[in-house]
Parts: sequence; structure tokens; C-alpha cells
Amino acid sequence: MRNPHVLLIPYPAQGHVIPLMELALNLAKHGFKVTFVNTEFIHERVINALPGTDNVQELIQMVSLPDGLESSDNRSEIGKLSESILDVMPGELNALIERINGSESEKISCLIADATMGWALEVAEKMGIKKVAFWPAAAALLALLFKIPSLIDDGIIDSDGKPMKNQKIQLSPTMPVMKTMDLYWSCINDELTRKLIFKLLVKIVRPTKSADRLISNSSYWLESGTFASYPDILPIGPLLASNRLGKSTGYFWREDSGCLAWLDQQPPDSVIYVAFGSFTVFDHNQFQELALGLELTDRPFLWVVRQNITEDVDNAYPTGFEERVQHQGRMVSWVPQQKVLSHPSVACFISHCGWNSTIEGISNGIPFLCWPYFTDQIFNKSYICDYLKIGLELNKDDNGIIRRVEIKNKLERVLGDEGLKERVLDLQAKILNGVREGGSSYKNFNDFVAWI
Ligand code: UDP
Repeated sequence: MRNPHVLLIPYPAQGHVIPLMELALNLAKHGFKVTFVNTEFIHERVINALPGTDNVQELIQMVSLPDGLESSDNRSEIGKLSESILDVMPGELNALIERINGSESEKISCLIADATMGWALEVAEKMGIKKVAFWPAAAALLALLFKIPSLIDDGIIDSDGKPMKNQKIQLSPTMPVMKTMDLYWSCINDELTRKLIFKLLVKIVRPTKSADRLISNSSYWLESGTFASYPDILPIGPLLASNRLGKSTGYFWREDSGCLAWLDQQPPDSVIYVAFGSFTVFDHNQFQELALGLELTDRPFLWVVRQNITEDVDNAYPTGFEERVQHQGRMVSWVPQQKVLSHPSVACFISHCGWNSTIEGISNGIPFLCWPYFTDQIFNKSYICDYLKIGLELNKDDNGIIRRVEIKNKLERVLGDEGLKERVLDLQAKILNGVREGGSSYKNFNDFVAWI
């Protein structure tokens, strides 16, 4: 019998491509033939960022489709990008699958789409192909999407997603409490963008609900209350580096190869790892205050400073900062984050609380100092600080700035709090057991593989 051929399609953003690529490599490890579809723009970035030694393409066929925008267009305007994708990509995907299916031995057995690409599930439905929705964020937030109609009916949000008032809601008695102002579309300041994103989110509910399987990069141990209330969402995570056969997972930037050697030189449990994911942007003052805060801690730090993290990044540091900290810390443009977090010298993670960063930090038993910006990061922060109690939050002053002294003081509190460390180590042990033979995610993943 031929190996089943699976096609995966992520939303074109770093925090979506990485976990789906982890899943793709995991499936390749189980003997599947795998085709991974990026937009042309993302495909080029991924290929350019691959280390020369990485032969990921021996395991996965990487293909690309146009997203309908010009190469010079700004793809950080999510609304414009999503509308263009909706216009162009369904037809392109349909044609790609028809081409592949032209050969009997290559036929696609199953399509796995990021739930935020719900249209791809509709393409699979029309073509009579098994379809799986993959949810790359907290399962509680998918449950929240499913609840939108009743939130509107109950007068909690209006039909554009705007909260009627600031209040606390709980989707089920076992789930975390959410503040309506923190719902992930509520914390988008620009009204038009908020409305558009809410509309796009509403659109993905039907195809996601009617997928043949619904899998999420989470663990029973992280969100047991949600999985108890929504048994159709199957946690298969955390999808870990250890399962990707030593391959890189679709980074958009080339990783700094020296950071691991630098970590080797630091004492155990000493380094502050600072990273804000792939698209959070700092204004100049806040960037400088963070730099001075890290200096003030007097502790070794590894800080990911993406080229686009602030305007004119090369001239953004406070005067003399780079010389003063050269024996204390290291600024790098991109790191293999999972490897960094698993390094014994790392003690704490200053994080924007993206979901991938959240589960990667927990999988490595690292407590958090939380610095969320928008979308699901605010919910994830509450989850880390109030529900799981494995981190503390940084507070802004009256001018909306997180000051250097706040950074130093909170960091000392995180590092001195044995309770935080104990809880995160306990959670780490549980979720890692979950992906080992006999564990809940392990079982879900193997049932899923058997089903395909
Ligand atoms: N990441 C990385 N190197 C870096 C910074 C981030 O590999 O220097 C990865 C990180 O491990 C995570 C992803 O980028 O898998 C970011 O996803 P997340 O959900 O945390 O944040 P987003 O970028 O979606 O805001």
C-alpha cells in the first residue's frame, strides 16, 4: 500500500508556519508523504533562511501559491492580506490539488489547514478530501470563537465584536475567566482593523466546526477545563523540536549560530532570555527603556532584536549601551528558540506571551516575566500569571511605559519565587509525559495518524 499523502497549509505568519511545520515533520517521521504549501512570499523567506546543511526538503515537499499581492505590498496589513488570500488562494489550491491528484500514486489523502485558513477546509470539502483543522493557539480561544453567537445574543459583545461593557465571562465553570476587554479581537486598537479581524474570525467557525478532525497544539495538562467542555478539540501538543528529526522549522530569519556557544559559557540558571515573537513592534522610548532595564539587572541576558522590532534598529540602542553590556549580554537577530529555552543556563523568559512561546517556555520549565502586546497575548498572559501561576506581569507607568526599575524589580521577584519555579517544573513534567508513550497527546496523535 502506498504511503498516505498529506497536504498542510498554514496562515502566512511565523507563529503559524512553525507549529504546522513541526506537525509536518512529525507526520514525515511516521512515514507520510508530506506537501507543505506556503504563500510565495513566505516560501521564499523560509528557503532563504534555511541553514545550508538543512535538507528538510528531502522529507517534505515545499510548494508555494500566490497570495494575490504584489511583492512590494505591505503584508503586515492583516486585513488586506487576508482579503487578497480569500480572493486568490482557493482557486490556486484547487488547481494545485487537481495537478497532484492527476497521478494516482500521489493522490492527497488528507488536507490539514490552519483553522484561520478556513477557506482551505472548504476547498477540501468540495473536492471530497478528508479535512483537518489545526488550531495553533490556546484551545480556550477556539472555544471562545465557537461561543460568538451566544455572546452576541446575551448582549456581551455587539455584532462587530465590541464588548458592551468591561466584564468578566467564563465559557464553562471549568474554564479560565476572561475579561471582555481582553478578548483577542477587543485588544486591537484600530476600530476598522478590529471589525475586519472579527469578521474574518467569524467566517472560520463553520469550516472549522465541520472539519473531520480538530487538533490543537496544546495539552490536556494545560487546558483540561477547556478540553473537558469541548471534547471535539483534540490536543496533540506540545509539538516539540525533539520530534522534528533535527530539522529547522520554517524560520523566516536566519538563526544566529553563535548564541548557543555563548549560552554554554554562562553559569547554569543565570541567563534572562528576552524575545517578543515575530511581529511585535516597539516604539523608540520603550525599546531604550528595555535595554536599560536589562543592563540594570546586572545579569547575563540573550535578547532577540529582530531587524523590524523597532524603527532604525541599528541606531536604536541608548548611547554607549552596546559597549557597556558587551560582557553582560548578547543581542541577536533570531535564535533557535526551542534550543535556547532548553539550555541549562536559561533562568527566565521575558516574553510577549505568543502561544508558541508560552508552550515552549513551559515545555522547558522556565518561569515567565510577561510583556504582552495585543491579540491572544493578553489572554495568554492571564493564563500564565493568574491561572497557571508560573509567571509575573510587567506593569506600565502612567505614561504607558514599562520602566527599567520595574523590569529589574519584577525580574528579581520571578527569580526569587520558588513557587513559580516549582509549578512550572511540575507542569513541564506533566506535559512532557503527555507526549510520551501512553500520554494523552501521544495517544491523540497516534489515533489521528491511524485515522488518516
Ligand atoms: N522564535 C524563534 N526564534 C526567535 C524568536 C521566536 O524561533 O528568535 C519562534 C518561537 O520559538 C515561536 C515563534 O517564533 O515558535 C513565535 O511564535 P509565538 O506564537 O510565540 O509568537 P508570534 O510570533 O506569533 O507573535
